[in-house]
Amino acid sequence: MQDIRIELTKTPKAKPADENALGFGKIFTDHMFLMNYTAGQGWHDARIVPYGPVPMDLSTMALHYAQEIFEGMKAYRVADGSVQLFRPYENARRFNRSAERMCIPTMEEEMFVTAIKTLVDVDRDWVPHAPETSLYIRPFVFATDAHLGVHASKTYLFAIILSPSGCYYPEGIDPVRIYVESRDVRAVRGGTGYTKCGGNYAASIRASAVAEEKGYTQVLWLDGVEQKYIEEVGAMNVMFKISGKVVTPALNGSILSGITRKSCIELLKSWGFEVEERPISAQELFDAAESGALEEAWGTGTAAVVSPVGEMAWNDRSCIVNGGKIGPTVQKLYDTLTGIQWGTVEDTFGWTVKV
Ligand SMILES: *Cc1c(COP(=O)(O)O)cnc(C)c1O
Repeated sequence: MQDIRIELTKTPKAKPADENALGFGKIFTDHMFLMNYTAGQGWHDARIVPYGPVPMDLSTMALHYAQEIFEGMKAYRVADGSVQLFRPYENARRFNRSAERMCIPTMEEEMFVTAIKTLVDVDRDWVPHAPETSLYIRPFVFATDAHLGVHASKTYLFAIILSPSGCYYPEGIDPVRIYVESRDVRAVRGGTGYTKCGGNYAASIRASAVAEEKGYTQVLWLDGVEQKYIEEVGAMNVMFKISGKVVTPALNGSILSGITRKSCIELLKSWGFEVEERPISAQELFDAAESGALEEAWGTGTAAVVSPVGEMAWNDRSCIVNGGKIGPTVQKLYDTLTGIQWGTVEDTFGWTVKV
């Protein structure tokens, strides 16, 4: 593995005074990680440098053809002052799966994780201390050939930027209102749904904007082939508790393989729950809601950890889930996962990695 050159800033920024007003993704730390790829040479020039803009030609391929992928994860401050990551090798593996689909060169998992650890270590003081705050980590790579021909780029820039982020639930966990999106789809079979690429997000923005206008928090996505089966909720995976069992859409190629999803499944199974990964139709879901069999519904993702659903609508059908309140299974998942992440619950799974 190559060495990482470190150039520290001579003008450190002031840290945010009010950690409870951080919000998400608005401010960035003093440094960033950069590494270039050149065909024939591989990844080279791994470096940590002061955070700042990068000059770019306007013909840069990523801007035109979206050959770009990213990851999202967090560093957590533990009560003893140490800093830890949550399952970073899972992010490394997913990053490489996304890269392979988008014809972007992969990298050694160890390089990916070492780059993150080294950068977080350099900017360690930026990991906030207030309860449930974290340092959001955004690794990404994009095609940098200055060329308008449509083909895989021969050069890439891999970067990691860090953003101190506030508590996701400053007012406590409030179940969200969602509705089934019947016009737009976010991904199709054979497409890029299982990758974390910017293009998937661009395709999802219109539906999210319409949902917000209608007074909903997010949309429940249906599959792009039959528009019949539930896929995800917003940019989160989705789970339902129906007659005591937990059901979640099977990873079918158009669903993103969430690390929170995987961790929830592993936790639920360790608690003795039966977890079914299978197709679940909107019809089945709303029938279960109307018969009273649907006990809880929630989204899973790094940002929110879990996000309970209090109300769902599909065309002219609508239902309240668990009286519009957070249910016991979601609450237990939230308490356990956040407990492991912030080091207040013993990590018996070996999920955390110290920086
Ligand atoms: C990132 C993401 C998720 C959640 O993945 P986590 O690893 O749990 O953060 C779910 N769906 C989509 C579309 C995503 O981009």
